Amino acid sequence: MRLEFHGGAGGVTGSHTVLDTGRARIGIDAGMFQGGDGADGDNRRGFGHDVRDLRALLLTHAHIDHSGRVPLLVRSLPSADVFATAATADLCDLMLRDSAHLMEEEALHGRHHPEQGRWLPPLYGEEDVAAALRRFRTVQYGESLDIAGLSVRFRDAGHILGSAMLEIDTGLGTLVMSGDLGRPGAPILRDPHRPAGADWLVLESTYGDREHPGREDRGRALLDIVRETVRRGGNVVLPAFAVGRTQEILFELNRFAERGELGRVPVFVDSPMAISAKEIYGRHPECYDAETRALLARGDDPLDFSGMKLARSKQESKKINDLREPHIIISASGMCSGGRVVHHLAQNIGREDSTILFVGFQAGGTTGRRLRDGGKRIRLFGKEFDVRARIEALDSFSAHAGRSELLDWLGGFRRFPGTVVLNHGEPSASESLAREIRHRFGADVRVAAPGSRVELG
Ligand SMILES: [Zn+2]
Repeated sequence: MRLEFHGGAGGVTGSHTVLDTGRARIGIDAGMFQGGDGADGDNRRGFGHDVRDLRALLLTHAHIDHSGRVPLLVRSLPSADVFATAATADLCDLMLRDSAHLMEEEALHGRHHPEQGRWLPPLYGEEDVAAALRRFRTVQYGESLDIAGLSVRFRDAGHILGSAMLEIDTGLGTLVMSGDLGRPGAPILRDPHRPAGADWLVLESTYGDREHPGREDRGRALLDIVRETVRRGGNVVLPAFAVGRTQEILFELNRFAERGELGRVPVFVDSPMAISAKEIYGRHPECYDAETRALLARGDDPLDFSGMKLARSKQESKKINDLREPHIIISASGMCSGGRVVHHLAQNIGREDSTILFVGFQAGGTTGRRLRDGGKRIRLFGKEFDVRARIEALDSFSAHAGRSELLDWLGGFRRFPGTVVLNHGEPSASESLAREIRHRFGADVRVAAPGSRVELG
């Protein structure tokens, strides 16, 4: 039996792992590579193995770096099903259609701007997405599924709505795959499941070398940045993933708005996808934690408050620019690699009184990373801009466990995994975490390299 790491290894995007039991091959996630000049080529180069051999695909969650190539993979598969929670399936319906649409637009754009490189067709179209969605089989948390002779359970990962880690009983032992691991105490979702034991563990390591500040202070830190910017007369632009992060930001702002601490600052959610995601969050109370259930029972929608405005159409989005009074704009994409947030950056990046506030991971090669790293000039829509706005970052909003949280979660295993394989991290993050796990738990720890295989003894 072995694991093959064809993506989401040596980096944080393009997640795709194969479990080969000798009798069957099962795929786990089929994500898009994002950020950097090589991403498009990586996405077009195939999956690193013959996907026609896969008996099934298990999908941990809907983020595009885990689900974005599902339509491409399914197109090559004669009959395999895609297993996911109901919330993940609903979010994929939204996100994969959006992904197809974006690629179609980019392809058209490329045709009009030949200097940006030769025109390439989209990776897949809306029909491929529809065909992929028909293959989805929804599963409940904790339900035991028999897939190609394996017993598979999806467990809470606490990362985004519908996110799951996988507990796979292979007959020879238990394999746990963390998927993207969330943080205990994060709002809306239940905390990550703590498996009793495992023989093998695949653990993500996005923040393997970094701590997050505590979540208790993060709302206050957000409020301080907003207030200070408003005092200067500027705007706060929050590039945020439409799914997950935007809802967490709204959850925090909701508390301050209801206590009157936000004043009358308008909050715009300028992302059609975030607005649709908010609706999907509303449809899946089965994923909520006790705090959120209690709020709802009291008749308080934790993602809605007066002062919050949704900008769905392009006209509504453009009208935000006419507003003279200070305001907050939450918009995607989270790494500023596209989407409406780029327009708001262009409007605010040159203003000393405005703040660009990052609340999520910025992958290497993205505009967000260049800004976070202190870049003084950036390119937007083919034009150079001086960076005069204040650049702030709140890592405490991360949907990924920080270093200590990963180690605490590992400490919960009563039967510690014989082998730990770290994936989903930049090499320095994974290596740093590997050293600490060896030191603290005396464990056999490997770091998955792109294309590497690990035999499970
Ligand atoms: Zn994720």
